[in-house]
Amino acid sequence: MGETISASQLAAGGFRGDTGLKFHPYWWEAASRPVDSTPVPKKCDVAIVGSGFTGLSAANTLLDSGSGAVVFDRDVPGFGASTRNGGQIGSGNQKFRVKTLIALRGEKKAIALIREGTQMLAHIDELVAAEKIDCDFRRCGRFRGAIRPEHYEAMARDMEDLKAIAGVESFMVPRSEQASEIGSEIFHGGSVLPQDASLHPGRYHAGLLACVNAKGGRVIGNAAVLEITPESKGFRVRTARGETHALNVIIATNGYTDGLVPELNRRIVSIGSGLIATGEIPEATLDRLLPKRRVYGNTNRVFYYFRAAPGARRIIWGGRVGRVAAANSPRAYCHLADDMLRVFPDIADVPVTHAWSGLIGYTYDEVPHLGRSAAGLYYALGYCGTGVSRATYFGHKIALQLLGKKEGRTAFDDLTFPAFPAHTIAKRAVPAVETWYRFRDATNL
Ligand SMILES: Cc1cc2nc3c(=O)[nH]c(=O)nc-3n(C[C@H](O)[C@H](O)[C@H](O)COP(=O)(O)OP(=O)(O)OC[C@H]3O[C@@H](n4cnc5c(N)ncnc54)[C@H](O)[C@@H]3O)c2cc1C
Repeated sequence: MGETISASQLAAGGFRGDTGLKFHPYWWEAASRPVDSTPVPKKCDVAIVGSGFTGLSAANTLLDSGSGAVVFDRDVPGFGASTRNGGQIGSGNQKFRVKTLIALRGEKKAIALIREGTQMLAHIDELVAAEKIDCDFRRCGRFRGAIRPEHYEAMARDMEDLKAIAGVESFMVPRSEQASEIGSEIFHGGSVLPQDASLHPGRYHAGLLACVNAKGGRVIGNAAVLEITPESKGFRVRTARGETHALNVIIATNGYTDGLVPELNRRIVSIGSGLIATGEIPEATLDRLLPKRRVYGNTNRVFYYFRAAPGARRIIWGGRVGRVAAANSPRAYCHLADDMLRVFPDIADVPVTHAWSGLIGYTYDEVPHLGRSAAGLYYALGYCGTGVSRATYFGHKIALQLLGKKEGRTAFDDLTFPAFPAHTIAKRAVPAVETWYRFRDATNL
C-alpha cells in the first residue's frame, strides 16, 4: 500500500498492510498532550472529574473567584472529546426545530433555551478574547446543505422562526447560487448562520489548561477517580494516584461517563464520532470547494460535518463511527472518505493522513444538563455532539452555582434530567439505531 492512502483508496476499502494513517487527532500535531507528574494534594476546595472543556472552564471560573480547583483525568489531560472534535462552534439551537422545541417545552421555556444558546456562542468568544487564547477562533459562519429540496423549505421556515423569537441572524442560499458557498452539486441549497464560529480544538484546550495552571489550579492526568464517598464535611475522592478530601466535587465526564456515579451513568449514552484529515489540497481547488472557509454540515439525521483546517489547506471531515473500540483500523473510517468524495469528487487523489474518534455524550431528551445529584455532587454534561460552546458555558455556570452566585442560574436548571429506560439496552442498541437512521436518510422515510 505504501506510506500514504488516498481518499478514494480509503473510501473503496481495498487496502492491505500499512496505510500510513495516523490514528490520533490531527489537532495533537499542534498541541501535543501534556505529560504531568503533579502529586495528588491531601485536600482541596473543589475536585473536578474530567479535564475537557467543561472541567477546565469550571476550574477557570472557580480560580477567578478565589476558590481552589484540582482537575483529575483518567488519561492524559484533554484525552476526551475536547481535543478530538471538529472545532465547529454553534449555539446548539439547531438540535430542534423551533416549533418542535415549543411543542416539547412550551413557548416561554423554548424561547429562554434558544436565547441562552446564542449567549453560549457569545461566552466562548468573550472568554477566548479575555484570556488571550491563541486558537484561531473565528466567526466564520455555518453553511448547512439541504440533502433534499423539502429540507431546504423546512430550514427556511425554521430560520424565520429563529429570527422572530430570538433575533438569530441567518440567510438562505438557493441551489442556483450555492457555488458562492460550496463547490459541490450535491445540496439543494442551504442555510447560513453567519455568527457560528470555528477554532482549533487542540490549541483552545491547551490555552484553557495554561489559564488554569497559571491561576494556581492543578490538572492531574492518569488519575482515574475510582470512588467518591460523602464525609461529614465534603467528600473523600479516591483516585488511581492517591486520595484527596474535597469540599465539593464537579463531574465533567460527558461521553466518557462510566459507573462512577450510577445516577449519571443511567442518564448518558455514549456514541462514537470520528474524523479524518486530508493532506494538502491545491489552493485553487480548496478555494472552489470551501470559498468562504465556513464550517459545514447537512440536514440528515446521521449527518456529516466538515471544514478546512486553520492555517492549512486540508479538509477535516467528520461523522459517526460504529465502534470506537475498533477505531484504530482504517476500515472504521471508509464511510467518512466515501461521504467526503460524494460531496467533493475532485479530491479523490488527495491523501488522508489522520483518522481518529471520540465519544459524544447523549441524553434521552437531547438537551444538556447541569445541576446537583442526590449525593450533592455537581455535574454538567450531555452536550449531544454540540459541546465546544456548550461545555465551556456549562462549566462556567456550574462553577458559579457551586459558589452560590445568582449569575450561575440558567434556563436549563429546572429541566428534569431523564434516565434512559433500560439503560444497558440503550447503550448496546446504539449501532442498530444508527443503521435505522441511515436507512431513513437513504429512503427519505
Ligand atoms: C469526534 C468528535 C467530534 C465533535 N465535533 C464537535 C464539533 O465540531 N462542535 C461541537 O460543538 N462539538 C463537537 N463534539 C462534542 C464536543 O467535543 C464535546 O461535547 C465536548 O468536548 C465535551 O467536553 P467535556 O469536557 O464535557 O468532555 P470531554 O472532553 O469528553 O472530557 C471528559 C473527560 O472525562 C475523563 N473521565 C471520565 N471518567 C473519568 C474518571 N472516572 N476519572 C477521571 N477522569 C474521567 C475522560 O478521560 C475525558 O478526558 C465532538 C465530539 C467528538 C467525539
